[in-house]
Amino acid sequence: MTETALTVHQTARPQGMPTADDFAFVESPLPVPAAGTALVENLYWSVDPYHRELMDDLPGGFALHAPLEGRTIGRVTASRTPGLAEGEIVLHRQGWRTHAVVTPDEVRRLPRHEGVPLTAHLGVLGGTGLTAYVGLTRIAGLRPGEDLYVSGAGGGVGTATGRFARLLGAGRLVGSAGSAAKAAHLVREVGYDAVFDYHDGPAAELLGKAAPDGVDVFVDNVGGEQLAAAVGALREFGRIVRVGTIAQYNAPGASASRFDHAEIVEKSLRMEGFLVRNHRDVQEELYDFAVPHLVSGRLVSDETVTDGFGHIVDAFLGMLRGANTGKTIVAAG
Ligand code: NAP
Repeated sequence: MTETALTVHQTARPQGMPTADDFAFVESPLPVPAAGTALVENLYWSVDPYHRELMDDLPGGFALHAPLEGRTIGRVTASRTPGLAEGEIVLHRQGWRTHAVVTPDEVRRLPRHEGVPLTAHLGVLGGTGLTAYVGLTRIAGLRPGEDLYVSGAGGGVGTATGRFARLLGAGRLVGSAGSAAKAAHLVREVGYDAVFDYHDGPAAELLGKAAPDGVDVFVDNVGGEQLAAAVGALREFGRIVRVGTIAQYNAPGASASRFDHAEIVEKSLRMEGFLVRNHRDVQEELYDFAVPHLVSGRLVSDETVTDGFGHIVDAFLGMLRGANTGKTIVAAG
């Protein structure tokens, strides 16, 4: 075990795309657990688009010069509570730091499944997978044979959505992503039927070519122009699942999506947003659904793993620029 701990702080409020200068790595003595707590050495960190939203000066956002937070998997290395044993693997929210002091009620013990890597608990079995699963089963109410369009198809939520949709019996699966290489990978490996690079032209045109007969469900990770295009492409009784709006996170003042409101009425469309934190009760159902497929190899947890806590800021900035395919994870290395 190392003798010092490292913690990442946010040091400035970015305008637009953040840079490494907006963060600092702060070294401190290894924390000592008080009675009733345990010391956890973090092993895997999740970096997420919502961290970018929290960097802005908004209520509930990150304070400057204070430790950042995020989902993390770690191992208990010293315990002063009967509620946590040394060696236990736990999930908790004190991320962006090498070590954390936690109480038993601040952590979740992770079920271990033979053949399922720990990182899957940040990917398809974690908040990312739960977002995809809730979006398809609870918000869209996807029925077998229905056709789907997924924006941000190459990311953590997008790849999980594609793989889950296939397992749930979806029909034609269309997506968008930020490069031709990513698009090709999604068709070859993830099970999409057609994926376009959203840089290649107006979204409505590209979607029209990829899904000439329209779609029943749109899972939207992006917003903006792609949301407007989907309103046009949806069939009668179509559903729009609003997951995220990453087109706006680094573009302050970006105008909201403009679409034909009449189409919502004429086609009896439904648009519904959700936050995964309000659907934690679905977690066990996600395990029941996904674990057997992970074990059998029918389901893969798509991940881009960066080795070394010292690279966590690079991994986060890379994810915002689209350097990842699947869930972005940092490993202690
Ligand atoms: P992710 O998709 O793995 O990573 C973000 C991706 O966004 C990048 O890989 C990049 O891929 C794409 N991107 C960046 N700027 C873009 C732009 N201007 N236009 C289009 N795409 C852009 O992240 P994730 O964790 O899976 O999250 C995906 C979305 O779901 C985000 O909007 C996030 O906020 C949201 N989310 C919501 C919930 C919820 O509870 N509602 C939970 C988790 C995540 P490209 O190469 O394709 O550009």
